[in-house]
Amino acid sequence: MERSFEKYFRQNRLPHMWCPGCGNGIVTKAVIMAVEKAGLSQDNTVIVSGIGCSSRASGYLDFDTLHTAHGRAIPFATGVKLANPELNVIVLTGDGDCTAIGGNHFIHGCRRNVDLTVVLFNNDIYGMTGGQASPMTPTGKRATTAPYGAIDRPFDVCRLAEAAGAIYVARSTAFHVQHLADMIKGGLDSRGFSFIEALCQCPTAYGRNNKMSDPAKMMMALRDSVLMKAAWDKLPPEKQAEKFPIGVLYQKEYVDYAKAYDTVIEKAGGRA
Ligand code: SF4
Repeated sequence: MERSFEKYFRQNRLPHMWCPGCGNGIVTKAVIMAVEKAGLSQDNTVIVSGIGCSSRASGYLDFDTLHTAHGRAIPFATGVKLANPELNVIVLTGDGDCTAIGGNHFIHGCRRNVDLTVVLFNNDIYGMTGGQASPMTPTGKRATTAPYGAIDRPFDVCRLAEAAGAIYVARSTAFHVQHLADMIKGGLDSRGFSFIEALCQCPTAYGRNNKMSDPAKMMMALRDSVLMKAAWDKLPPEKQAEKFPIGVLYQKEYVDYAKAYDTVIEKAGGRA
């Protein structure tokens, strides 16, 4: 039987290096489902990633891809988009890559409203580099750099994206695969900086440190940690704090950076 979505993967790069039970493969599949639903072709879509377990996804996908430096996926993607605004540019990044090393690039990408679709694989930890705490590690959870539990507060990265200027902000999880694909498709359909937080499990680096290394149980915990936004909105504030809302959290229209840059080109006498 032919495997679905096979054409989107570089067969000679498989099998992948992710641990059994890792959420990265599920999120990667959701990205591909969204690409197919949005009707994008592999020839006019570029995938850019930074460094980390999730950023390995670009190497497995049969598109034009860039596997860049740690935290630098968004600047590379911005360059691709400005060089050829006709391309669909997708950024795959992790919580450490996007919100720590690449934190400044992230907020300025949002502020400029570069027409990118950024998918953040949020597993609450640095996986590839050994389980260090990231800016998304929940307070009290353990990491190799926080053996007694993290004392920092994690970002609400969706609110950060909204405050910084993103025009489409959504959240879903590796448990809700169809929903996640729909959230990513919404980003692909939007003209401007689109941000999708994909909550997912890292049983190896996060799970082992936090006595929850069973991937199936981690996925159940993911399922139980969220609520559809419409239902979440009806909760009293003290109950809202116990769950993450999932769905489209914010949406607006604003001129994207490549279009704004066209006005500069025009004022400067047009393209050579
Ligand atoms: Fe996945 Fe974690 Fe293993 Fe990395 S360390 S491949 S994020 S399970």
